[in-house]
Amino acid sequence: MIRKIGYRRDYWLTLIIGSCLVVLVVLLGVSFFKAISDSDIKSRKEFLRKQTELAATEIEIAINRFEDDSRMLIDFLEDDDLDQEDYSYDLTKNARRIFHNYPGLIDTLWVNFQDSVNYFTLTERNDFIRGLYPNAPPLRDYRDFVHYLDGNQKFELTFLLNPVRFTKGFVTHYYLNNGGSKMLLLGGELINIDSHQIKSDLEIDKKSLKQINKDAAEGVIGVYEVKWRFDAESGNGVLVEYPFNFGKIYEELSLLFMVESNSITSGIYSTYLFLFSCFVFLLIGTVVFFALSLQNRLESQRLLEENANEISKLFDQQNILLRELRGFVFFHNYKGEITRVSDEVEDILGHPKSEFLEAFKREGGHKDAVSVKGLVKRALKENKSFINVEYDFEKPNGELVRLRIFEKLIFDKKGRFNGGLGICTDITDQYDSKLELIESGKRLQNLIDNIPDTIFTYDNSGQVLEAHAKDKGFLKAPDDSLVGKSLFDLVPAHQIDKTKFAFNLARETRQIQTVDLEIDTGMENTFFEVRFFPLDSKRMMSVFKDITSQRVWEKGLVEAMNAADQASRAKSEFLANMSHEIRTPMNGLLGIIDLLDQTTLDAEQTQYLEIIKNSGNSLLNIIKDILDYSKIEAGKIDIHSIIFCPAEELEKQVQIFFGLAQKKGVILQTSYDSLSGEMMEGDVEKINQIVLNLVGNAVKFTPKGGSVSIRLELENISGELYYMKCTVKDTGIGIPADQIPRLTDPFYQVESSSSRSYQGTGLGLAIAKKIVELMGGELTICSEMGQGAEFAFTVILKKAPELILSDPPTVDQNRVKWNGMADEYPLKILLAEDNDLNLQLMTLILDQLGYDFKVARDGNEVLDVLDRKDIDLILMDVQMPGLNGLEASKQIRQRGKKGDIFIIGLSANVFDEDQKKAYEAGMDDYLTKPIRLISLAEKLKEYAIKNDVRRKKSKSR
Ligand code: ADP
Repeated sequence: MIRKIGYRRDYWLTLIIGSCLVVLVVLLGVSFFKAISDSDIKSRKEFLRKQTELAATEIEIAINRFEDDSRMLIDFLEDDDLDQEDYSYDLTKNARRIFHNYPGLIDTLWVNFQDSVNYFTLTERNDFIRGLYPNAPPLRDYRDFVHYLDGNQKFELTFLLNPVRFTKGFVTHYYLNNGGSKMLLLGGELINIDSHQIKSDLEIDKKSLKQINKDAAEGVIGVYEVKWRFDAESGNGVLVEYPFNFGKIYEELSLLFMVESNSITSGIYSTYLFLFSCFVFLLIGTVVFFALSLQNRLESQRLLEENANEISKLFDQQNILLRELRGFVFFHNYKGEITRVSDEVEDILGHPKSEFLEAFKREGGHKDAVSVKGLVKRALKENKSFINVEYDFEKPNGELVRLRIFEKLIFDKKGRFNGGLGICTDITDQYDSKLELIESGKRLQNLIDNIPDTIFTYDNSGQVLEAHAKDKGFLKAPDDSLVGKSLFDLVPAHQIDKTKFAFNLARETRQIQTVDLEIDTGMENTFFEVRFFPLDSKRMMSVFKDITSQRVWEKGLVEAMNAADQASRAKSEFLANMSHEIRTPMNGLLGIIDLLDQTTLDAEQTQYLEIIKNSGNSLLNIIKDILDYSKIEAGKIDIHSIIFCPAEELEKQVQIFFGLAQKKGVILQTSYDSLSGEMMEGDVEKINQIVLNLVGNAVKFTPKGGSVSIRLELENISGELYYMKCTVKDTGIGIPADQIPRLTDPFYQVESSSSRSYQGTGLGLAIAKKIVELMGGELTICSEMGQGAEFAFTVILKKAPELILSDPPTVDQNRVKWNGMADEYPLKILLAEDNDLNLQLMTLILDQLGYDFKVARDGNEVLDVLDRKDIDLILMDVQMPGLNGLEASKQIRQRGKKGDIFIIGLSANVFDEDQKKAYEAGMDDYLTKPIRLISLAEKLKEYAIKNDVRRKKSKSR
């Protein structure tokens, strides 16, 4: 920027100086002109004066000669020797000579011989006439005459002269330029004697004229600058007055030459002005030229400087670049000798710079130098202007490098080879990676060639660009013939849409999209799993994988799965049946035990009864465990979430073991965190089942003096979800480390612990683990032999919505005496049971409770009884011959008002779905066998109350 301003300043400075120079030159020119015009005028005046003087002097001389000649004529006339004839002849001859010698001067010559007067004259037409006057001429009439008398006074010569004409003729050959005037001042009168200009009325200003007259009278030469006027014209002139003698006649005669001032200067002016103007124009031109060329020069200098900067910057950059590129620059002359090389050469080639230069100097030097020279020669032969080669070079240390030589060959204007400028770069790394690329390309090709799948590449519209099919039978066409076809023409019509969809989706999302196609390849229908994915922005690829055999296998698998499913269902059914079959006799057994318990027994009997009861209960538990596990295995377990308080619930479960713990002398303690007191939602029954199992085990495996501590914690996962963690820690016998992983296997018991002193099935932990996992948690076991054990489980719970809960109904914890409850809770009962043993047991139980009841042996009988009798509640066995319990319930419900009756189902089936079926059939409640006295009594009490309420309501209506 600063530089630019500098250039502009220089430019303006040049212009100003140039203009000043022009003005100066003009001033100088004008003053020079003035000087030369002054000197010219002076010299002109001088010249005019000289001319005038010359002319006047010549006239004087001529007049003097004329006077001499006149005297000579007198002398001739005085010659006495002449005879009359000669005399006359010679007189004429001499007279003529005088006439001719002074043309225009003599008007008439009178020769007065006393007696006669001869006269001679020259006419206008140059005829010389001699005449004779009888008397003397009337000379007084003439002003301009001279006369001569001889000494003897015999004759008299009288010349009548015309000085004006003579002078006029005489000065004709004096050239005065245009505008020159010649005059005579004769007796104070100005007479124009100009031959070609008839300026008879030429007037000179009075002042000058006066001076001229004065000077003429004094016989002084004068030079004047006068003003003249002629007719309408007027002007200035330079006038020279030269007084001269015109013989004896006119003593005051002046010759006046005048030139116009303009004519003096105009010549100078025009020539000078022309030259000067040319010069000034030349000068201005030069200045402008200079200014322009300066501007151009400055501009080009600026450009040059900019270019120089640019070049030096580029050079620096290039140097950096070269260093980065690992390269060096070199120049060589036409002989191939390196004249310059950059320092990096040593880095690249491993040879010192001097060695490198030397190698190219000698003829037949280093082999690589020779071959590079050879390359140049070949390029020249082939009329190339550059060389671009890659070259393997071995460094002195044995390292192999790949070089790229790029050289520009330089020629002069005449096309002669001058040398070369080249760059040599080490491209080993690029070369290696290029090789690697080629190799990996080959590997890829190998891979593709050996892939059993069929591979296509397409353009973005789906047109096949390349096809690779290992199995040439693919699509009934050789792979080459597929090129150029559209993918969508290759697939069967009904599959085009989904193919298009997958293809376009893969292209747009740039992610693999898979589609299954079924294509007729000639022999049979072949299944393909086709994966579409974009190769790059312009190309797509697909891999057709033949999955026909997989499909066949899958089909087999599905069939196998179906078979397994069927087997599993059979197993479940078997289990259900088994449970039913075992439970039925158990029902009788335990029922009787319950009945016995209600009778009065002695101490020994009570003890035996207690043992039978325990065994029965154990057996029932075992069956329950086996069933639980089978249910879980068969995936037939559901989660029933209810709202509960974890801390409260835990406390209740642990309470169950207080008695046992106390008996064993084991301390049982619980602790909770603050969140455990919140209301949560989850399958509390299943959680309780796990807690019971863990605490039960802990108490079981902890000897006297030990302790069992249970800790409950809740932790928020996110939002309303919580982890509940329950840890049961004991100081019991512990578990060997190697056995811990197997504890959750079904029926697994630790050898040492199963010394029969501990009862159990080995199913508890297996079930616990399954349930815990079902509820999103895990079961962890830590233990050391003899150091006690720590069992912990987590489950996911949901925080219960904030509800205003009414007080839970308080359960009468006092032992209820059920015998004869029918009086307090009357009900008209129908018992539907086909099994005799069960019928017996139920009869005993109901009798004990004090109820009178009707019996039906199947569903149809139930309906019959209902038609005849007034019944409040039916205890309905589900499995009955003929019309079973479910069907009978359905029919009862379909009867409308008469069907308004309570039905409690009885079944040995414990699966949830069995209960569900019962409710769906219209049953109000469900009891699983074996039917225990207390549970039946509680149910009857509940429905008796409901029945009472209903009755009262219908009565009030
Ligand atoms: P079981 O009905 O036999 O108790 P479990 O699955 O509950 O079945 O337990 C399997 C076995 O794990 C037990 O037989 C016992 O050997 C071992 N075990 C369980 N809990 C403990 C404990 N707290 N201390 C020592 N051993 C235990």
